[in-house]
Amino acid sequence: MIKSGDTLDLSVIPGVKVDKHSTGGVGDKTTLILVPLVAAAGAPVVKMSGRALGHTGGTLDKLEAIPGFRVDLSLEEIIGVARRTGAVLAGQTASLVPADKKIYALRDVTGTVDSLPLIASSIMSKKIAAGADRIVLDVKVGSGGFLPCVDDARALGELMTAIGREFDRQTVIILSSMVQPLGCAVGNALEVEEAVRTLQGEGPADLTELCLVLGGEMLAAAGIAETPQVGRERLQVLLDQGAGLERL
Ligand code: URA
Repeated sequence: MIKSGDTLDLSVIPGVKVDKHSTGGVGDKTTLILVPLVAAAGAPVVKMSGRALGHTGGTLDKLEAIPGFRVDLSLEEIIGVARRTGAVLAGQTASLVPADKKIYALRDVTGTVDSLPLIASSIMSKKIAAGADRIVLDVKVGSGGFLPCVDDARALGELMTAIGREFDRQTVIILSSMVQPLGCAVGNALEVEEAVRTLQGEGPADLTELCLVLGGEMLAAAGIAETPQVGRERLQVLLDQGAGLERL
């Protein structure tokens, strides 16, 4: 799948590049908060997002709720934005893992969205092709995502870390609850608004907590914080200062 298209070389962007991905859930707008917040802490993030799958939302659809926001950046534009701001939020370019685009669409209409090997290969092929050095994965447990039971979520986490190891990309797995929508807002424009409110320090407690946990892991993985806890504390300060909002 990785070799079905182009791969990104992010070595022109200084620093350890860290990426995140969620297995998908209802009301999951963490990417919109995490990318600018983690970038404000000094870790460059180049995040390529996808569209809705099954009953779960997609970050690209959310971004397109912002009037004038263009998600189809070229590779040159992605590198340019990363160098200028340290934070890129874009769609997967047409040439990045084209095999996944076809399989993704097929899964949606063949009742195979919750297949563990298909989820693992879909996510990891894109993360590896997109060039990040470190990967933090949010594996959702509960009926709002694709894996209602914790044993399946653990098995998926193990599959993905094994793939990461194979390609020398350190991969961190966080299991998080998806038994109810994350935050209060569900729906593309509403979720963007809630993400902005969260960056203003006025977000719902569950969403803010998940962003701090994942972000702490991202900073530790990038080598910017000694531990995830130290990373989390740094992000809390930045959140209070509005630094993530400014970066967004
Ligand atoms: N996100 C992806 O990119 N692929 C999946 O299969 C599930 C969530």
